[in-house]
Amino acid sequence: MDWLLEFWNRLTLWADAIVSGGTVVALAAVCLVQYLLTVRRGMVLRREREQHVRNVMGLEEQLAEAERDRSLTRIENSILKEFVSQTDLDTAIGVLLRRFVPDEDGGLGAFLQSNGGRLELRAARGLSAKSRESFTVAADDCSRALRERVVVCERKALEGNLTWQSLSGEDRPKVLTLFLMAVGDESRPVGFLLSTSLYPPQASREEQLELVRRLMHSLAGTLRQSQEFERQRRELRFASEKLELRAIADRRFATPLSMLEAFLENLAQRTGCERAVMVLSASENDQPRRVISGGRDSDIGAARLWSQHEDRLIQSTGGAERAFDADDLEVAGIDSLIGGALVVPLMYQARPLGALCLSKRERRLFGDEARRLARWAAEYLSDLLVRVLNYAVVERMARHDGLTDLANRRELDRQLPLELDTCGRSGGECSLVLLDLDRFKSVNDTWGHQAGDAVLKQFAEIIRERLHGLRSGDRAFAARYGGEEVAILLPNIGRPGALRIAESIRQAVADAAFCWEGGTVPVTVSAGAATFPADATTPEALLSAADVALFQAKRDGRNRVCCPAEGGMMTR
Ligand code: GH3
Ligand code: MG
Ligand code: MG
Repeated sequence: MDWLLEFWNRLTLWADAIVSGGTVVALAAVCLVQYLLTVRRGMVLRREREQHVRNVMGLEEQLAEAERDRSLTRIENSILKEFVSQTDLDTAIGVLLRRFVPDEDGGLGAFLQSNGGRLELRAARGLSAKSRESFTVAADDCSRALRERVVVCERKALEGNLTWQSLSGEDRPKVLTLFLMAVGDESRPVGFLLSTSLYPPQASREEQLELVRRLMHSLAGTLRQSQEFERQRRELRFASEKLELRAIADRRFATPLSMLEAFLENLAQRTGCERAVMVLSASENDQPRRVISGGRDSDIGAARLWSQHEDRLIQSTGGAERAFDADDLEVAGIDSLIGGALVVPLMYQARPLGALCLSKRERRLFGDEARRLARWAAEYLSDLLVRVLNYAVVERMARHDGLTDLANRRELDRQLPLELDTCGRSGGECSLVLLDLDRFKSVNDTWGHQAGDAVLKQFAEIIRERLHGLRSGDRAFAARYGGEEVAILLPNIGRPGALRIAESIRQAVADAAFCWEGGTVPVTVSAGAATFPADATTPEALLSAADVALFQAKRDGRNRVCCPAEGGMMTR
């Protein structure tokens, strides 16, 4: 049993030893765990601190960015506000250019407006007059700017390209860097702003470019609106100018020429010209002839030279529309007086009628609006001319006889009292001769009606020839009075003169060969003459007296001239 007790004691001691050693180990393990936890927490804390620092730095950056953004927005807004507060687009662009180019002696800037694929210089600053005439931007640079909004061209890269070439030698030294900024995008380009410096001057290049990008984006809408507004205003102005020019054509004028004169003068004013001329061609191959001119006339010597220039310009265009700037004029051999000209053809139903030529002293090409108005005026005038000419033709037809081309009886009835009235007041004489072809009925019966017509025409031609030989002041006037009867009114011509003229016609008819289909038609004429106031004092009485004399000539055997004489009738 003792050994059992002994064994038990030893076992107990051994277990105690084991238990106290385990405690130590356990304690050590706990300590280790504690330590590890502490280290880990430290690491986490450090990481958290680092993250925090990073966050703070990020926030600071964001704050700085927001601050920068705000200041850019402030500048952008102030520029936009300034831009939209201007009364017109040109002033607004001018103000914008002043921001970008504060010193026009040391830099340059321009705004080119995109107009249906064409670029036109709308405003410029620091650009010499010579550069303004030819300034343009290379198409490649424009496309790039539309994609990237702003293109920075250093002088080295710029030299030799189109933009550089379009700058005059005077302006080139101003360019170290050229900034090309696009307003609008590829689908809807509005225009391009060019400058040798950016805004604001104290900002970094990066900030300046950022501002430009934003500004161009914001300006696109504003400019588009302004351009649309301008377009509408232009349309309105064009419509009112057309109306005013039309009103001139509708006013009453003494002659159509004085109307055209007023029309052209007004057109010259509206298109900023000194002179406007209209030339007409008689036929397609004919040289156009000056019809009328309008506008301020220079002194006589200069006017003659100016006219020669106009003629030369019209001839050089060969019937096409053409605008001439100072260089074109020089090429055309014109180096004085005129600085710009525009020739617009006058056409009617695709046939050339002539041309309009507008010219001015100012050395500047005609703008789109002036060209548009001139084109409209040319169309309107072509129409008007044809209407006026048609009216003249109709009017002439109403007063003339179609077969003989002499005046008709209505016209004689209108003229006779007027001439008698004039002669009555001046105490002059006026004779009337009635001519009647002899036995004309038998001409028709023998040779046919067509032959009769041909005889009538030739008879009228003989009368015209005979009257043509009279003095210009005589105002002789022949009218087909009836079928084969012609009346000749001879103002300021007394009985002897009237008898002489009637006799010369009778003789000419008797001598003429009236040929028809290989044969000769025998034709003679009888005439009766009467004179105001000796034979009659009223139109009716004068006609009647001439008729009585004609009847006498027939009765006396035809082919003779009769007139009333004292105590009866006198036959020649
Ligand atoms: P007299 O010597 O007495 O004048 O004889 P006449 O035959 O000329 O006189 P009359 O008045 O009898 O005849 C005129 C003729 O003129 C009748 C008509 O047929 C013809 N006549 C009138 N107008 C025209 C015309 O436009 N063309 C043609 N071919 N004949 C015409
Ligand atoms: Mg007759
Ligand atoms: Mg007859």
